[in-house]
Amino acid sequence: MLAVAAGCSAAGGSSSAPASPSPSYEAPPVTTPSTAAPATDTRQAALAALPPALRNRIPQFPPAPAPTKVTLPAGNAAGWFSRVPTDQKIAFITIDDGWVKHPQALRLLQAANVPTTLFLEVNAIKDNPAYFKALESAGATIEDHTISHPNLKGKSYAFQKSEICGGADRLAAYYGRRPVLFRPPGGTHDATTLRVVKDCGMKAAFYWKETTDHGVVFYQEGKTVKPGDIILMHFRPRFPDDFLAVLNAIHKAGLTPARLEDYIP
Ligand SMILES: [Zn+2]
Repeated sequence: MLAVAAGCSAAGGSSSAPASPSPSYEAPPVTTPSTAAPATDTRQAALAALPPALRNRIPQFPPAPAPTKVTLPAGNAAGWFSRVPTDQKIAFITIDDGWVKHPQALRLLQAANVPTTLFLEVNAIKDNPAYFKALESAGATIEDHTISHPNLKGKSYAFQKSEICGGADRLAAYYGRRPVLFRPPGGTHDATTLRVVKDCGMKAAFYWKETTDHGVVFYQEGKTVKPGDIILMHFRPRFPDDFLAVLNAIHKAGLTPARLEDYIP
């Protein structure tokens, strides 16, 4: 399946990472995220700090509408979605793994001023969790993507629990908020996965409708982003191109990015 292959091949991020990965992330000299500075000031500062080739490709979106909650399944399994059922003119940006910590990601998120959901793999981010803390201050919400990115399908309850609960526990320790959403590595899962996700205190798990790589958005259905679509990208060496491709695909479809967590009861 092409879609699965495109999904989380970015463990390859470890091999395609920049030649000189810096162990400690240097925050760009923009507004201090912890202050109560208006988002517009942060946005303007980030736009000014970006090279024009990036700045000029960032679209402006109308505000997202008031969210409506999905209905989660009754019983002992978490919900499973590749699209949020809605007629609202919205789409969801999700960014996975965390191996490649691109120096422009913070500025790009600040300049776009849109919500994102980061499904982080603990092993990919543990060398520099602060990098993602900064992204949190720019509208990102950090969610669970296991500790070591295994294929979960067919694995025992205990194995899956160790990876899924363990990931949520570690991210809670790093960031002070326990994840409520989960993405299985590669999207691969079974009924046990959804039971474990719920038992680990999370509400829903997610696949996707579009993937992104090398600055190109790949569609599974049709040729445009549809309302409620969940779009997958990764922290890869071409993060700016991928992020800008996603933003412009959403904009071209007449949609605006919304916060996935706001749609889950
Ligand atoms: Zn992944």
